[in-house]
Amino acid sequence: MHLSENVSTLKPSATMAVSSLAKRLASEGRDILNLSAGEPDFDTPGFVCDAAIDGIKAGATRYTPPAGTPQLRKAIAARLAERAGREIDWEGVVVTAGAKQALFNAIFTLFGPGDEVLILSPYWTTYPALVSLARAEPVVVEGDATNDFKVGPAELEAASTGRTRGVVLNSPSNPTGAVYTSAELAAIVAWAKERDVWILSDEIYRSIYYGSEGVAAPGLLDLPESALGPYVLIDGASKCFAMTGWRIGFTYAPRELSNKFAALQSQMTSNPTTPSQVASLAAYTQVEAADAAVAEMVRAFKRRRDLVTTRMRELLPGVEFVDPVGAFYLYFRVDSFFDDEVTGATAWCSKLLEEQGVALVPGAAFGDDRWVRMSFATSDDVLEEALARIAAGVAAASPS
Ligand code: PMP
Ligand code: GLU
Repeated sequence: MHLSENVSTLKPSATMAVSSLAKRLASEGRDILNLSAGEPDFDTPGFVCDAAIDGIKAGATRYTPPAGTPQLRKAIAARLAERAGREIDWEGVVVTAGAKQALFNAIFTLFGPGDEVLILSPYWTTYPALVSLARAEPVVVEGDATNDFKVGPAELEAASTGRTRGVVLNSPSNPTGAVYTSAELAAIVAWAKERDVWILSDEIYRSIYYGSEGVAAPGLLDLPESALGPYVLIDGASKCFAMTGWRIGFTYAPRELSNKFAALQSQMTSNPTTPSQVASLAAYTQVEAADAAVAEMVRAFKRRRDLVTTRMRELLPGVEFVDPVGAFYLYFRVDSFFDDEVTGATAWCSKLLEEQGVALVPGAAFGDDRWVRMSFATSDDVLEEALARIAAGVAAASPS
């Protein structure tokens, strides 16, 4: 079939593909422990669900403006303003169908043929795919494992050319859980500002941070306004409020750019779904209840982070991993387990799924097929069992 060049390199999301396969095997009766999907296992907080149900009954079932309801945009702006300690232009907030659409809007609007966009590796699988969809060129910048794969201005400078138009940042990181400090962010921001390069800062995991209790990870808005060059902030309700299926994300960007995002949405999707906007309005306005729900989930994620890192050290001593400071992923290195038959993490994960029933995402999805990603957004019991099975799989493959 002849298809447009628009989709010539497009592949389905690898993270979604592994998680769909794991769900299918489980539905066929296989005993599968699914540590592939990056989604909180908690229910959406009750007050958010109630608001959606009440909203639907009260008629929140029609189109809204393409950028979202003014109430929700103002509520998000108010929370951003609280955090930044300065005024935030609510018309710079555009509500999207998940953070994915927010990223698509930003990448598609800002970049095109001839442009290069720096993607820090390991990267979330969707970033290079979206840059390629815009027919711009993703340029991968490798971080160093000894620094939790974080990069600084020197690495960005080495990878940049006269065609570099943007850099995608993601802290806390999917897949590593690494978190940039304010000083590290400031150094990157200064580098980008100097070169008039756009920063797209994906802060979807910002609240899921193990640094200090009740505090979110450093983000762009923590920096003084005068330090910032051109940027788009990307965030959303999916991870922090356990609302992945509701599909609500947002961007915060200059108003002129936001108007283009809204125009794009008006042609593509009209608006993010109305009941989900009503639900999110509760999440962004009932601040005390929302903060309490987030804090409770973060406490559970932190306990699980401690559990998986402790068990990794006990069961697979010597296996390298990034100690996660945020998000809910453990990124660990498996090439010491490769042999003549299993020569990459993709094959290693297939074998693990086949023989032990544990689903992980191979590092090929994130730029390095010597590593794998485990999501620890699942129960302690499942994590204990999964780690025991991984260790059993490793022992069975090297019976010495
Ligand atoms: N950014 C990152 C880093 C993610 O891991 C995800 C996971 N889905 C997203 C964006 C997209 O979030 P959403 O589900 O809101 O589209
Ligand atoms: N972001 C999650 C992940 O990395 C969900 C899947 C996806 O959106 O690709 O697994």
